[in-house]
Amino acid sequence: MRYIISIALASALATAASAEVPRVVTDFAPVQSLVQQVMGDLGQPAMILPAGGDPHDFQMKPSQASALADAQVIFWVGPELMPALGDAIGTLGGKATVVDLLRDGGGHVRQFADGEGTDPHAWLDPENAIAWLGTISATLSSADPEHAATYRANADQAVTSIQMLDADLTALLAPVKTKPFIVFHDALGYFGDHYGLNIAGAIELGDATTPGAAQLQKIRGLVADSGAVCVFPEAGRDPKFIATIIDDKARVGAPQDVEALTLTAGPELYATLLRNLGQSISDCLAKD
Ligand SMILES: [Zn+2]
Repeated sequence: MRYIISIALASALATAASAEVPRVVTDFAPVQSLVQQVMGDLGQPAMILPAGGDPHDFQMKPSQASALADAQVIFWVGPELMPALGDAIGTLGGKATVVDLLRDGGGHVRQFADGEGTDPHAWLDPENAIAWLGTISATLSSADPEHAATYRANADQAVTSIQMLDADLTALLAPVKTKPFIVFHDALGYFGDHYGLNIAGAIELGDATTPGAAQLQKIRGLVADSGAVCVFPEAGRDPKFIATIIDDKARVGAPQDVEALTLTAGPELYATLLRNLGQSISDCLAKD
């Protein structure tokens, strides 16, 4: 009888131990992917931004607020990317450990060239992702010391795979890095700095479906003056529309999905995002 009781106790303890993995909430898919790699099989981090959502236009819904209120650890890029989430964390996330990756992640932060403040697209530099993996692992380990060795081993493995991807992308982009190109969402500063790319300019169309005559003139002037070889639409924009705007003076590359609007969430997403970006830039610039 005593034997049976001790087995029951052991299994109750095992259940209690696995229940101690913290409830983790992330802001959007690229951060969720990095955190998922560190958590591995221990648990799944939730994500506030719905699949396909644009982080810059995010508005908080009540169901998202309750996930946030239950969180024990929150990893997010910061208010520069999702201002509405910042307000919600301020009012709801009081109990949680909050890691604002731009400030607390250990990576580097760049400013927009035009003086418009902090560029939030920091996940697009693989060195930042590597620094963030260390911070994610350390944060989860202090929230859940029992699994510290697993978090650390998972993070080390993720770092190794990002380093290999980075070496591949460095080799892929080296032959095209002097060729100028233009982007339709000013998000590639970190990626361009890291790989030494020649980003000649960024054109923001905003929500306008058709640019006015003055804006068209400006866009065509920028394409002509910069000698841009390619322009890259942002994900969700019709590439044919971009071709009309630039008057076929440069090639139109594949849309650049820097915010993972079209990718499936999960541990593989981060590498897929970076690889797609490097490949689309190389594919377009390498012609002729
Ligand atoms: Zn963006």
